[in-house]
Amino acid sequence: MGLSSPWLEHADLSTLNSFGVPARARWFARCRDTSELQRALQHCPAPPLVLGGGSNLLFAADPDTPVLQPDLRGIRLDALDPHRVQVSVAAGEPWDALVRRCCDWQLWGIENLALIPGTAGAAPVQNIGAYGVELAEHLRWVEAVELRGGASHRLPAAALGFGYRDSRFKREPGEWLITRIGLELRRDGGPRLGYAGLEDALLALGADPRRPTAGQVAEAIRSVRRRKLPDPAQIGNAGSFFKNPEVTSERAAALRNAWPSLPVFPGKAAGFSKLSAAWLIEAAGLKGLRRGDAGVSGQHALVLVNHGAAKGAELLALAREVATAVQVRFGIALEPEPVIIGALFREAS
Ligand SMILES: Cc1cc2nc3c(=O)[nH]c(=O)nc-3n(C[C@H](O)[C@H](O)[C@H](O)COP(=O)(O)OP(=O)(O)OC[C@H]3O[C@@H](n4cnc5c(N)ncnc54)[C@H](O)[C@@H]3O)c2cc1C
Repeated sequence: MGLSSPWLEHADLSTLNSFGVPARARWFARCRDTSELQRALQHCPAPPLVLGGGSNLLFAADPDTPVLQPDLRGIRLDALDPHRVQVSVAAGEPWDALVRRCCDWQLWGIENLALIPGTAGAAPVQNIGAYGVELAEHLRWVEAVELRGGASHRLPAAALGFGYRDSRFKREPGEWLITRIGLELRRDGGPRLGYAGLEDALLALGADPRRPTAGQVAEAIRSVRRRKLPDPAQIGNAGSFFKNPEVTSERAAALRNAWPSLPVFPGKAAGFSKLSAAWLIEAAGLKGLRRGDAGVSGQHALVLVNHGAAKGAELLALAREVATAVQVRFGIALEPEPVIIGALFREAS
Protein backbone atom coordinates (compact mmCIF):
# COMPACT_ATOMS: atom_id res chain seq x y z
CA MET A 1 0.00 0.00 0.00
CA GLY A 2 1.58 3.29 -0.99
CA LEU A 3 0.05 6.19 0.95
CA SER A 4 1.04 9.79 0.37
CA SER A 5 1.20 12.69 2.83
CA PRO A 6 -0.13 13.22 5.55
CA TRP A 7 0.37 9.48 6.16
CA LEU A 8 3.45 8.33 8.09
CA GLU A 9 4.71 4.77 8.05
CA HIS A 10 5.31 2.54 11.11
CA ALA A 11 4.08 4.77 13.93
CA ASP A 12 4.51 3.86 17.60
CA LEU A 13 1.12 4.03 19.39
CA SER A 14 2.41 3.16 22.89
CA THR A 15 2.29 6.79 24.05
CA LEU A 16 -1.05 7.36 22.30
CA ASN A 17 -3.07 4.98 24.51
CA SER A 18 -3.68 5.53 28.22
CA PHE A 19 -2.95 1.86 29.06
CA GLY A 20 0.54 2.53 27.70
CA VAL A 21 0.65 -0.86 26.00
CA PRO A 22 2.88 -1.40 22.98
CA ALA A 23 1.20 -1.13 19.58
CA ARG A 24 2.27 -0.04 16.12
CA ALA A 25 0.33 1.33 13.17
CA ARG A 26 1.52 0.41 9.68
CA TRP A 27 0.12 3.80 8.60
CA PHE A 28 -0.70 6.80 10.83
CA ALA A 29 -1.96 10.34 10.12
CA ARG A 30 -2.64 13.21 12.51
CA CYS A 31 -4.80 15.83 10.80
CA ARG A 32 -4.83 19.38 12.11
CA ASP A 33 -7.43 20.87 9.76
CA THR A 34 -10.26 19.72 7.54
CA SER A 35 -8.34 19.95 4.26
CA GLU A 36 -5.60 17.70 5.71
CA LEU A 37 -8.34 15.36 6.88
CA GLN A 38 -9.92 15.24 3.44
CA ARG A 39 -6.54 14.51 1.84
CA ALA A 40 -5.86 11.76 4.39
CA LEU A 41 -9.24 10.15 3.72
CA GLN A 42 -8.81 10.40 -0.07
CA HIS A 43 -5.52 8.53 0.15
CA CYS A 44 -6.70 5.93 2.63
CA PRO A 45 -7.49 2.57 1.00
CA ALA A 46 -9.50 1.15 3.93
CA PRO A 47 -11.69 2.76 6.61
CA PRO A 48 -9.17 3.84 9.28
CA LEU A 49 -9.32 3.34 13.02
CA VAL A 50 -10.13 6.80 14.39
CA LEU A 51 -7.99 7.64 17.41
CA GLY A 52 -8.77 10.39 19.92
CA GLY A 53 -6.82 10.51 23.18
CA GLY A 54 -6.61 6.69 23.37
CA SER A 55 -8.22 6.64 26.83
CA ASN A 56 -11.01 4.20 26.03
CA LEU A 57 -9.37 1.52 23.97
CA LEU A 58 -7.18 -1.50 24.48
CA PHE A 59 -4.74 -2.55 21.78
CA ALA A 60 -4.93 -6.33 22.16
CA ALA A 61 -2.94 -6.47 18.90
CA ASP A 62 -1.62 -4.01 16.35
CA PRO A 63 -4.48 -2.43 14.39
CA ASP A 64 -4.81 -3.97 10.93
CA THR A 65 -6.10 -0.71 9.39
CA PRO A 66 -4.49 2.73 9.05
CA VAL A 67 -4.91 4.89 12.17
CA LEU A 68 -6.17 8.48 11.80
CA GLN A 69 -6.17 11.05 14.59
CA PRO A 70 -8.39 14.09 13.86
CA ASP A 71 -6.66 16.82 15.85
CA LEU A 72 -9.14 19.52 14.78
CA ARG A 73 -9.45 22.52 17.08
CA GLY A 74 -11.92 25.33 17.68
CA ILE A 75 -14.85 26.20 19.97
CA ARG A 76 -17.70 28.52 18.94
CA LEU A 77 -20.47 29.96 21.10
CA ASP A 78 -23.88 31.04 19.77
CA ALA A 79 -26.62 32.38 22.03
CA LEU A 80 -29.92 30.62 21.28
CA ASP A 81 -31.94 32.79 23.65
CA PRO A 82 -31.15 34.64 26.92
CA HIS A 83 -30.79 31.31 28.77
CA ARG A 84 -29.47 28.79 26.26
CA VAL A 85 -26.13 28.74 24.44
CA GLN A 86 -25.01 26.43 21.65
CA VAL A 87 -21.38 25.40 22.03
CA SER A 88 -19.91 23.91 18.89
CA VAL A 89 -16.64 22.06 19.47
CA ALA A 90 -14.12 20.54 17.04
CA ALA A 91 -13.30 16.86 17.58
CA GLY A 92 -9.71 17.25 18.76
CA GLU A 93 -10.43 19.63 21.65
CA PRO A 94 -9.47 17.98 24.98
CA TRP A 95 -12.65 17.24 26.91
CA ASP A 96 -11.69 18.48 30.38
CA ALA A 97 -10.28 21.76 29.00
CA LEU A 98 -13.67 22.25 27.30
CA VAL A 99 -15.43 21.69 30.64
CA ARG A 100 -13.16 24.32 32.23
CA ARG A 101 -13.89 26.87 29.53
CA CYS A 102 -17.66 26.29 29.71
CA CYS A 103 -17.50 26.76 33.50
CA ASP A 104 -15.46 29.96 33.00
CA TRP A 105 -18.28 31.18 30.73
CA GLN A 106 -20.70 30.25 33.56
CA LEU A 107 -22.52 27.72 31.43
CA TRP A 108 -24.21 24.80 33.18
CA GLY A 109 -24.58 21.25 31.90
CA ILE A 110 -21.28 19.38 31.59
CA GLU A 111 -19.61 20.31 34.91
CA ASN A 112 -20.25 16.80 36.36
CA LEU A 113 -18.25 15.36 33.44
CA ALA A 114 -15.06 17.13 34.59
CA LEU A 115 -11.73 15.29 34.43
CA ILE A 116 -12.93 12.61 32.01
CA PRO A 117 -9.87 12.13 29.77
CA GLY A 118 -9.99 12.19 25.98
CA THR A 119 -11.35 14.39 23.22
CA ALA A 120 -14.65 16.07 22.44
CA GLY A 121 -14.97 14.00 19.24
CA ALA A 122 -14.89 10.71 21.17
CA ALA A 123 -17.37 11.87 23.84
CA PRO A 124 -20.49 10.82 21.87
CA VAL A 125 -18.98 7.41 20.98
CA GLN A 126 -19.74 5.92 24.37
CA ASN A 127 -22.05 8.74 25.53
CA ILE A 128 -19.66 9.63 28.34
CA GLY A 129 -21.25 9.79 31.75
CA ALA A 130 -20.33 10.42 35.36
CA TYR A 131 -21.90 11.60 38.60
CA GLY A 132 -25.49 11.36 37.37
CA VAL A 133 -25.01 13.16 34.02
CA GLU A 134 -24.64 11.75 30.51
CA LEU A 135 -23.42 13.66 27.45
CA ALA A 136 -26.65 12.77 25.58
CA GLU A 137 -28.60 15.14 27.85
CA HIS A 138 -26.71 18.12 26.39
CA LEU A 139 -25.63 16.99 22.92
CA ARG A 140 -27.83 18.30 20.10
CA TRP A 141 -25.93 17.22 16.97
CA VAL A 142 -22.75 15.72 15.65
CA GLU A 143 -20.97 16.50 12.38
CA ALA A 144 -19.42 13.36 11.00
CA VAL A 145 -17.78 12.07 7.82
CA GLU A 146 -18.79 8.71 6.40
CA LEU A 147 -15.58 6.70 6.28
CA ARG A 148 -16.87 4.75 3.27
CA GLY A 149 -17.57 7.42 0.68
CA GLY A 150 -16.43 10.58 2.45
CA ALA A 151 -19.78 12.42 2.63
CA SER A 152 -20.25 14.82 5.56
CA HIS A 153 -23.46 14.91 7.57
CA ARG A 154 -24.92 16.80 10.49
CA LEU A 155 -26.66 14.07 12.51
CA PRO A 156 -29.25 15.12 15.12
CA ALA A 157 -28.84 13.59 18.58
CA ALA A 158 -32.09 11.64 18.09
CA ALA A 159 -30.40 9.67 15.28
CA LEU A 160 -27.45 8.59 17.39
CA GLY A 161 -29.02 5.69 19.32
CA PHE A 162 -27.61 6.72 22.70
CA GLY A 163 -27.68 4.26 25.58
CA TYR A 164 -25.65 3.60 28.73
CA ARG A 165 -22.00 3.98 27.57
CA ASP A 166 -23.25 3.28 24.08
CA SER A 167 -24.21 4.91 20.78
CA ARG A 168 -24.53 4.03 17.13
CA PHE A 169 -20.85 5.07 16.69
CA LYS A 170 -19.76 2.40 19.17
CA ARG A 171 -21.98 -0.18 17.48
CA GLU A 172 -20.81 0.78 13.95
CA PRO A 173 -16.99 0.95 14.22
CA GLY A 174 -15.24 1.92 10.99
CA GLU A 175 -18.26 3.82 9.65
CA TRP A 176 -17.94 7.39 10.97
CA LEU A 177 -15.39 10.04 11.86
CA ILE A 178 -16.84 12.75 14.11
CA THR A 179 -15.44 16.20 13.23
CA ARG A 180 -17.54 18.49 15.47
CA ILE A 181 -20.13 18.22 18.24
CA GLY A 182 -22.90 20.65 19.18
CA LEU A 183 -23.87 21.06 22.84
CA GLU A 184 -26.69 23.08 24.35
CA LEU A 185 -25.77 24.54 27.74
CA ARG A 186 -27.64 26.89 30.04
CA ARG A 187 -26.83 30.16 31.74
CA ASP A 188 -29.62 29.56 34.27
CA GLY A 189 -28.82 25.91 35.18
CA GLY A 190 -28.09 24.56 38.63
CA PRO A 191 -25.96 21.94 40.38
CA ARG A 192 -26.63 18.17 40.33
CA LEU A 193 -25.15 16.94 43.56
CA GLY A 194 -26.91 13.58 44.00
CA TYR A 195 -23.66 11.67 44.55
CA ALA A 196 -22.17 10.94 47.96
CA GLY A 197 -19.15 13.07 48.75
CA LEU A 198 -19.89 16.01 46.43
CA GLU A 199 -21.30 18.32 49.09
CA ASP A 200 -18.33 17.57 51.37
CA ALA A 201 -15.93 18.21 48.48
CA LEU A 202 -17.62 21.59 47.86
CA LEU A 203 -17.30 22.50 51.54
CA ALA A 204 -13.62 21.51 51.46
CA LEU A 205 -13.16 23.96 48.56
CA GLY A 206 -14.79 26.72 50.58
CA ALA A 207 -17.90 26.74 48.34
CA ASP A 208 -21.49 27.01 49.51
CA PRO A 209 -23.08 23.61 48.61
CA ARG A 210 -26.50 25.32 48.33
CA ARG A 211 -25.32 27.81 45.69
CA PRO A 212 -22.09 26.65 44.06
CA THR A 213 -20.94 27.91 40.67
CA ALA A 214 -20.56 25.42 37.79
CA GLY A 215 -16.78 25.84 38.15
CA GLN A 216 -16.90 24.92 41.84
CA VAL A 217 -18.98 21.80 41.07
CA ALA A 218 -16.43 20.77 38.40
CA GLU A 219 -13.56 21.34 40.87
CA ALA A 220 -15.36 19.24 43.53
CA ILE A 221 -15.85 16.44 40.99
CA ARG A 222 -12.15 16.64 40.05
CA SER A 223 -11.08 16.31 43.69
CA VAL A 224 -13.40 13.30 44.30
CA ARG A 225 -12.21 11.62 41.08
CA ARG A 226 -8.51 12.20 41.91
CA ARG A 227 -9.05 10.42 45.24
CA LYS A 228 -10.95 7.48 43.74
CA LEU A 229 -9.36 6.71 40.38
CA PRO A 230 -5.79 5.82 39.49
CA ASP A 231 -4.17 8.53 37.31
CA PRO A 232 -3.15 7.20 33.87
CA ALA A 233 -0.09 9.50 34.02
CA GLN A 234 1.11 7.41 37.00
CA ILE A 235 -0.22 3.96 36.09
CA GLY A 236 -1.65 2.93 32.71
CA ASN A 237 -5.43 2.39 32.67
CA ALA A 238 -8.60 3.21 30.72
CA GLY A 239 -10.89 4.08 33.63
CA SER A 240 -13.72 1.62 34.32
CA PHE A 241 -13.03 -1.54 32.36
CA PHE A 242 -16.51 -3.04 32.78
CA LYS A 243 -19.99 -1.58 32.48
CA ASN A 244 -22.33 -1.85 35.43
CA PRO A 245 -24.57 -4.80 34.43
CA GLU A 246 -28.32 -4.35 34.04
CA VAL A 247 -30.58 -7.21 35.12
CA THR A 248 -34.31 -7.56 35.72
CA SER A 249 -35.35 -6.10 39.06
CA GLU A 250 -36.57 -9.57 40.03
CA ARG A 251 -33.09 -10.97 39.47
CA ALA A 252 -31.54 -8.05 41.36
CA ALA A 253 -33.83 -8.72 44.33
CA ALA A 254 -32.84 -12.41 44.36
CA LEU A 255 -29.14 -11.49 44.29
CA ARG A 256 -29.69 -8.92 47.06
CA ASN A 257 -31.31 -11.66 49.11
CA ALA A 258 -28.21 -13.80 48.80
CA TRP A 259 -25.73 -10.88 49.17
CA PRO A 260 -27.43 -8.13 51.23
CA SER A 261 -24.58 -5.60 50.75
CA LEU A 262 -24.81 -5.72 46.90
CA PRO A 263 -25.50 -2.15 45.69
CA VAL A 264 -28.54 -2.01 43.37
CA PHE A 265 -29.51 1.13 41.40
CA PRO A 266 -32.55 1.88 39.25
CA GLY A 267 -32.07 0.71 35.64
CA LYS A 268 -32.78 2.79 32.52
CA ALA A 269 -36.07 1.00 31.86
CA ALA A 270 -38.90 0.09 34.21
CA GLY A 271 -38.44 -3.42 35.64
CA PHE A 272 -34.63 -3.30 35.31
CA SER A 273 -31.92 -2.59 37.87
CA LYS A 274 -28.24 -1.77 37.60
CA LEU A 275 -25.66 -3.59 39.71
CA SER A 276 -22.24 -2.34 40.78
CA ALA A 277 -19.61 -4.16 38.69
CA ALA A 278 -16.92 -2.92 41.12
CA TRP A 279 -18.74 -4.63 44.03
CA LEU A 280 -19.09 -7.90 42.09
CA ILE A 281 -15.37 -7.93 41.22
CA GLU A 282 -14.31 -7.11 44.77
CA ALA A 283 -16.70 -9.69 46.26
CA ALA A 284 -15.24 -12.30 43.89
CA GLY A 285 -11.90 -11.60 45.62
CA LEU A 286 -10.23 -10.03 42.58
CA LYS A 287 -9.38 -6.49 43.75
CA GLY A 288 -5.59 -6.08 43.52
CA LEU A 289 -5.16 -9.34 41.53
CA ARG A 290 -1.99 -9.33 39.46
CA ARG A 291 -0.90 -11.46 36.53
CA GLY A 292 2.58 -10.27 35.66
CA ASP A 293 2.25 -6.54 34.97
CA ALA A 294 -1.49 -6.74 34.21
CA GLY A 295 -3.56 -6.03 37.29
CA VAL A 296 -6.92 -5.23 38.82
CA SER A 297 -6.35 -1.92 40.61
CA GLY A 298 -6.05 -2.19 44.39
CA GLN A 299 -7.56 1.32 44.54
CA HIS A 300 -10.70 0.67 42.45
CA ALA A 301 -11.77 -2.86 41.46
CA LEU A 302 -13.39 -1.70 38.21
CA VAL A 303 -10.11 -0.43 36.80
CA LEU A 304 -7.54 -2.67 35.12
CA VAL A 305 -4.00 -1.32 35.29
CA ASN A 306 -0.68 -1.74 33.53
CA HIS A 307 1.92 -2.02 36.30
CA GLY A 308 4.71 -1.43 33.79
CA ALA A 309 5.31 -3.68 30.83
CA ALA A 310 1.94 -5.42 30.35
CA LYS A 311 0.95 -6.15 26.77
CA GLY A 312 -2.60 -5.53 25.57
CA ALA A 313 -3.17 -9.27 25.13
CA GLU A 314 -2.22 -9.83 28.80
CA LEU A 315 -4.69 -7.18 29.97
CA LEU A 316 -7.35 -8.79 27.79
CA ALA A 317 -6.59 -12.21 29.30
CA LEU A 318 -6.94 -10.71 32.79
CA ALA A 319 -10.23 -9.03 31.83
CA ARG A 320 -11.57 -12.37 30.62
CA GLU A 321 -10.42 -14.02 33.85
CA VAL A 322 -12.27 -11.37 35.90
CA ALA A 323 -15.44 -11.76 33.83
CA THR A 324 -15.33 -15.56 34.14
CA ALA A 325 -14.88 -15.40 37.92
CA VAL A 326 -17.87 -13.03 38.28
CA GLN A 327 -19.94 -15.22 35.96
CA VAL A 328 -19.14 -18.35 37.98
CA ARG A 329 -19.80 -16.73 41.35
CA PHE A 330 -22.84 -14.56 40.59
CA GLY A 331 -24.12 -15.75 37.19
CA ILE A 332 -23.66 -12.21 35.81
CA ALA A 333 -21.99 -11.51 32.44
CA LEU A 334 -19.72 -8.46 32.57
CA GLU A 335 -19.28 -6.44 29.36
CA PRO A 336 -16.16 -4.38 28.67
CA GLU A 337 -16.51 -0.60 28.39
CA PRO A 338 -13.39 0.23 26.29
CA VAL A 339 -13.16 -0.66 22.63
CA ILE A 340 -10.90 -3.68 22.13
CA ILE A 341 -8.72 -3.53 19.02
CA GLY A 342 -7.54 -6.73 17.38
CA ALA A 343 -9.61 -9.27 19.33
CA LEU A 344 -13.12 -10.07 20.45
CA PHE A 345 -13.76 -9.95 24.18
CA ARG A 346 -15.56 -13.29 24.04
CA GLU A 347 -13.57 -15.82 22.08
CA ALA A 348 -15.63 -17.82 19.59
CA SER A 349 -16.27 -21.27 21.07
C1 LIG B 1 -8.84 7.60 34.33
C2 LIG B 1 -10.01 7.49 33.37
C3 LIG B 1 -11.28 7.83 33.79
C4 LIG B 1 -12.37 7.75 32.91
N1 LIG B 1 -13.60 8.10 33.37
C5 LIG B 1 -14.66 8.03 32.56
C6 LIG B 1 -15.97 8.39 33.02
O1 LIG B 1 -16.15 8.81 34.16
N2 LIG B 1 -17.01 8.28 32.18
C7 LIG B 1 -16.84 7.85 30.88
O2 LIG B 1 -17.84 7.78 30.15
N3 LIG B 1 -15.63 7.50 30.41
C8 LIG B 1 -14.54 7.57 31.20
N4 LIG B 1 -13.30 7.21 30.75
C9 LIG B 1 -13.16 6.69 29.37
C10 LIG B 1 -12.70 7.73 28.32
O3 LIG B 1 -12.03 8.80 28.92
C11 LIG B 1 -13.88 8.28 27.50
O4 LIG B 1 -14.58 7.24 26.89
C12 LIG B 1 -13.41 9.27 26.43
O5 LIG B 1 -14.53 9.84 25.78
C13 LIG B 1 -12.50 8.62 25.38
O6 LIG B 1 -11.96 9.67 24.59
P1 LIG B 1 -10.67 9.44 23.71
O7 LIG B 1 -10.49 10.67 22.88
O8 LIG B 1 -9.51 9.05 24.54
O9 LIG B 1 -11.14 8.23 22.77
P2 LIG B 1 -10.28 7.01 22.22
O10 LIG B 1 -9.91 6.12 23.35
O11 LIG B 1 -9.18 7.49 21.35
O12 LIG B 1 -11.37 6.27 21.33
C14 LIG B 1 -12.45 5.60 21.92
C15 LIG B 1 -13.40 5.13 20.80
O13 LIG B 1 -13.94 6.27 20.13
C16 LIG B 1 -13.59 6.25 18.74
N5 LIG B 1 -13.31 7.65 18.38
C17 LIG B 1 -12.44 8.50 18.97
N6 LIG B 1 -12.49 9.72 18.39
C18 LIG B 1 -13.44 9.62 17.42
C19 LIG B 1 -13.94 10.53 16.44
N7 LIG B 1 -13.52 11.80 16.35
N8 LIG B 1 -14.89 10.08 15.55
C20 LIG B 1 -15.33 8.80 15.61
N9 LIG B 1 -14.88 7.89 16.51
C21 LIG B 1 -13.94 8.30 17.39
C22 LIG B 1 -12.36 5.35 18.63
O14 LIG B 1 -12.25 4.79 17.34
C23 LIG B 1 -12.68 4.32 19.71
O15 LIG B 1 -13.60 3.39 19.19
C24 LIG B 1 -12.18 7.29 31.59
C25 LIG B 1 -10.88 6.95 31.15
C26 LIG B 1 -9.82 7.05 32.03
C27 LIG B 1 -8.43 6.70 31.55
